[in-house]
Amino acid sequence: MKPNFETIIGLEVHAELETRSKMFCGCPVVDSTEAKPNIAVCPVCAGMPGSLPVVNQQAVEYALKVALALECQINNTSIFARKNYFYPDLPKGYQISQYESPLAHHGHLKIRTQSGEKNIRIRRVHMEEDTGKLTHIPPNNGKPGYSLIDLNRAGVPLLEIVSEPDIRSAEEARSYAVTLRTLLRYLGVNSGDMQKGVIRIEPNVSIRPIGSSEFYTRTEIKNLNSFRALERAVAYEIQRQQNLFRQGKTIVQQTMGWDESHQKTFPQRTKEEEEDYRYFPEPDIPPLVIEDEWIERIRAALPELPAAKYKRFIKTYRLSSDDADLLISAQSISNYFESTVSTCPDIPPRTVANWITGELFGLINQRNITFEDIKILPRELSALLSLLHHGEINTNTAKAVLTEMFETGNDPKTIVSKSGLNQISNIAQIAKIIHDVIAANPKELETYLNGKETVSQWFFGQVMRGTGGKANPKIVKAELNRQLLELKRKQ
Ligand code: ADP
Ligand code: MG
Ligand code: ZN
Repeated sequence: MKPNFETIIGLEVHAELETRSKMFCGCPVVDSTEAKPNIAVCPVCAGMPGSLPVVNQQAVEYALKVALALECQINNTSIFARKNYFYPDLPKGYQISQYESPLAHHGHLKIRTQSGEKNIRIRRVHMEEDTGKLTHIPPNNGKPGYSLIDLNRAGVPLLEIVSEPDIRSAEEARSYAVTLRTLLRYLGVNSGDMQKGVIRIEPNVSIRPIGSSEFYTRTEIKNLNSFRALERAVAYEIQRQQNLFRQGKTIVQQTMGWDESHQKTFPQRTKEEEEDYRYFPEPDIPPLVIEDEWIERIRAALPELPAAKYKRFIKTYRLSSDDADLLISAQSISNYFESTVSTCPDIPPRTVANWITGELFGLINQRNITFEDIKILPRELSALLSLLHHGEINTNTAKAVLTEMFETGNDPKTIVSKSGLNQISNIAQIAKIIHDVIAANPKELETYLNGKETVSQWFFGQVMRGTGGKANPKIVKAELNRQLLELKRKQ
């Protein structure tokens, strides 16, 4: 019989803290995907002997924000440590990190799963520094290959957030990573720009037969920088481990890479033991002492966090879970939604949400721009929705007008009146048109009066055609019925 397995996952997430300067020196933090190589380097981050690191206060503040948002306990004294290893992107030969006394521990992050909300415990949050970047140039036409090093990223503040092994599937791992990214963006400490590698995810994966409560050997997949890669790499690894288990083979504790082109994990190295790093307290940096008063000040200044906003949106605005999810995904979007709602109190918030997540997101995706780039102000969107709500334009016209607003930045009233798109809702005007249509078609009227009521449909079509589809159909229907019944009574 095939054994059934349970999946156990713990995530280590590295997030760059987007401070102005680096973690231990005054070099600016530059966009490492755009800046020229090695323009932001000094003796400290280049690892020159004799240079002295100084802790960046803003980085500590950012790290505290994250730790507090994750409801961690903060260590009033935390220690920087040297993690010794050699790699060409690490000029010092060691990375300054935190080990025994990290900045914070024992937090949690609530994620949403198919079966509801789930609490994932956070083991620790600590500060460290990023490494440089290597570019490997392969051999070409008999010329040997070589490698280039860019130290712009060396020493950029990095936060490591380590979860407990509470995650049970690839989907949950994704949900955790997405939730964490949104949180980091809300706190303003990380752009969330995954393509630029500002967040890197390392899942630790193991399986165990259902019913077992012990932890089995895990593997760690290094450096994933998209949610898709995370989900696929974990799913692949689960399958690989299950196959080994079923064949009675051992699962080796090792570090894996993810091969994007073959959609496979592959072994990189057998897992190093902690002793290999020869951690010891960093002698050049005194213990980091954080006063309670500072902690409380930061806690008090935290913005409304995405989880709270999600719940509030559903409760206050009666949104669906999906709409709430889309709208809270970035502050710029949720602010936009709330500004729009506040400027059109007579329109149901659900309608506003639908226009944003449907039409507006559709336009944004088509043009491949970001939400921040759109030219339509919230009050202009609400002006458009008011025109629709009050029957001055119909839904199709509203969509066309929105597209034009999106492209030109013009306001909806101008667009509507310039192009004569106004829907005719004025009852007197409509009544006159209907009257004229009936008067011009005496034969049809007679058929109607002789009992063929479906002729009213034909009149309706005539009126709509006569107005180029701009008459408000509801009003036309009501007024047409009124006039026809009136004529019937007078017979
Ligand atoms: P290290 O620091 O050596 O990478 P840790 O013990 O600190 O190892 O764990 C790192 C991550 O691995 C944590 O996120 C933890 O939750 C996870 N983890 C630990 N044991 C397991 C396991 N058996 N299966 C899956 N994940 C695990
Ligand atoms: Mg690890
Ligand atoms: Zn520097």
